[in-house]
Formats: sequence, C-alpha cells, structure tokens
Amino acid sequence: MILPGATLGLIGGGQLGRMFTMAARNLDYRVTVLDPDPLSPAAEFATGHLNTAYTHPISIEELANSCTAITTEFENAPAEVLLQLASRTLVRPSGNAVAIAQDRELEKGFFKSHGLPVGPFAVIKSAADIDNALKTVTLPAVLKTARFGYDGKGQARIASRDELETTLRDWKFAPTILEQWIPLKLEISVVLARNHSGEVVVFPVAENQHVNGILDVTIAPARIAESIASRATGIATTIAEKLQYVGVLAVEFFVLDDDTLLINEIAPRPHNSGHYTIDACRTSQFEQQVRVLCDLPLGDATQHSPAVMLNLLGDIWRGEDLKTPPDWSVVLQHPGAHLHLYGKRAARAGRKMGHVTVCDRTVEAALTTALQMKATLQKSV
Ligand code: ADP
Ligand code: MG
Repeated sequence: MILPGATLGLIGGGQLGRMFTMAARNLDYRVTVLDPDPLSPAAEFATGHLNTAYTHPISIEELANSCTAITTEFENAPAEVLLQLASRTLVRPSGNAVAIAQDRELEKGFFKSHGLPVGPFAVIKSAADIDNALKTVTLPAVLKTARFGYDGKGQARIASRDELETTLRDWKFAPTILEQWIPLKLEISVVLARNHSGEVVVFPVAENQHVNGILDVTIAPARIAESIASRATGIATTIAEKLQYVGVLAVEFFVLDDDTLLINEIAPRPHNSGHYTIDACRTSQFEQQVRVLCDLPLGDATQHSPAVMLNLLGDIWRGEDLKTPPDWSVVLQHPGAHLHLYGKRAARAGRKMGHVTVCDRTVEAALTTALQMKATLQKSV
C-alpha cells in the first residue's frame, strides 16, 4: 500500500486531473502534474507542476525519481512515456491499455478480437481502402480520426461516397475509421475500478445525452431495465479483465431499440459521465482512482442519491470575448445543486468549464431542476 504522504505523478492537468488532485490532496498525497499548459486546472491544487511537453526527458526523469506511482487523466498521454516510466516506477493504467484506448483502430480491433459487440466499422488509411469500407459500412456513417479526437472533434458525418472522399482528402488521409451511423435509442456508460488483485467495483450505470458530440446531461442511475444495466456492467468488466486493466475505466455504450448494446469507446481514466459520483456516491470516481493507484481498499460505489449532471460549456459565458461567467445564483440557491468550476481562465464555445450535479429524491425531479437551470443559465448569456 502506498500511504498518504507519498508523491503521486499525474500525466495531463485538465479538469479530470484537477478532481483527481483534489481527491489525492484530501488524503494528503502530494501530486506532481506534468502538463504543458501553465494555467493547468490540476496544477492549481498540485504540489508540483512540470510545465513542459509530455515527452520532455527532464520531466520524465523527474517523475520517475520523485513519484511512487503515476497515473494519467487523458487518453492522449503518450503511451510510450507511460511504458518508459513503468520500468522505473508504478504506472496505472498501463501504457499498453492506454495505447489501445487512444487509437480507435486498435480499440475497435481489440473489441472484435474478443467477440465484444461493436457496430459495423472499417479502417481507412488510403484511397485504396474506400471500396472495401463501403462494402462493410452502409451510409450514413461517421468518419473519425483514429487518434486525438475528443468531444466530437475529429469526426464528420458522411452521407455519400463523394463526401467520404472529400473529407479523407481534407484530412490528408490520416488514419481514420468509418463507423456506421447507429440509430440509437439512448447512450449509457459504465465507470469501474479494477485493482491489482483483479477485484472490480462498478459505479451505477449512467445515461448520457450528447449535443453536437459533446456530453450535455448525465442521468444517474440510468432509466433502463436492470437486465440492460447488468449486461453493460458485465461487458465493461470483461473489457477490464481482457486488458488486465488496473485503474478507473469508463466504457461508453449505444443502446438500440431492441435493447442490443454496442460498445462505442473506452476511456482509460475517470469520465465526464462519472462526475455525478462526487456528490451522489459514497466514493467518487476520483477518490477511487487514488485508491486503485495506491493499492488502498477500493471504495464503496453505492449511490446515496439520484443525480443529474449538467455540463457547463463556455457557450454560456457572456460578452463577445466570453469573459463574464453566467449568474450562478440559480444553481447556488438550490439546496440539492453542487457547482463545480474547473478554474479555466478563458471560456470558448464547446469548452468544458465546469458542471452542476443536482441531487434529489428521484432522477425525474433532479432532471426537471437541472433542465430549468440549464435554460436559465442559457438565457442569462
Ligand atoms: P468522443 O471521443 O468525441 O467522445 P465518440 O466516438 O464517443 O467520440 O462520439 C461522440 C458522440 O457522437 C457519441 O457519444 C454519440 O452521441 C455520437 N456518435 C458517435 N459515433 C456514432 C455512431 N456510430 N452512431 C451514432 N452516434 C454516434
Ligand atoms: Mg465518447
């Protein structure tokens, strides 16, 4: 067990890292953040900030020398850096697991090779792959860059062969995957933690609503039959086991009209749809990340209150330069609402600036309140 007082390393310093750092600091761990952004949201709470590129040799040396254990908060942490660090110190999750999660081709190939359910897809690396791709995938489809996409970025809807060819050319034939557009009934996600001994603790399944490819609202627990929740939990657990995963893992699913589940993608870290756990579960997904990293007993994931989480994007900041935050009183005056702001100094359209979690006696009540808050915050722009 790595006890409080030890120094933990964190690769990436965005909002997920900020909430990990807050949980770790609460338990009196020291945290060193590696992030090139001088205004990193996580660094504000960290005891150290290596303010360089993720691959900077001096920073990697410093992390290896000073940290008892290292984790990551975003899937684009260079997997080779994690593998390199693993020869010197404890790294969780492993560079191998992160390498799969950060590359849609490897990720989809992994699901397929283990017989896990995914929708029709094809890998496109050159013009020669187009014919075959269109035999596997029926249009409309969505084209996604194999790497570095997030929050709906690096994606384009494809309705025709022409559109496919133009987009591939625009993207200079960077490796992509073409996915059939799934007529989904709803989206759900599972966040779990798997420790070194293979024990798994799963948070309640969450229901997610996206707008323009970005998570907008999470409803927890999801309004689905217990049989669907347990199938999703089972698939997510299988993924963690097949990856020999140690850490917090998120799995996003599509639910079809006939309740078929398809895996959309995985994230090797806590997830936006798990933010509700901070205010609504006995252990938050971030404390769980600390616990699994340090070999502490896994925390109880029981949900003590129905919850709805609303993402706060930069769009609701005011003024042409988006300098002024909205009036938070609608959130602050509500007894069940918890406001979380990420300390980002500049708002931009589509940028995740914070979130609100509304806890209430039922998810319906929490949802009604959250949607009213959303409308008020938008109106005040
Ligand atoms: P990101 O890495 O940006 O989260 P995702 O692949 O999860 O990328 O896509 C973001 C969202 O776009 C999904 O949550 C879903 O709402 C929608 N989406 C993505 N792929 C498909 C698809 N094949 N069929 C239907 N909707 C999709
Ligand atoms: Mg996603």
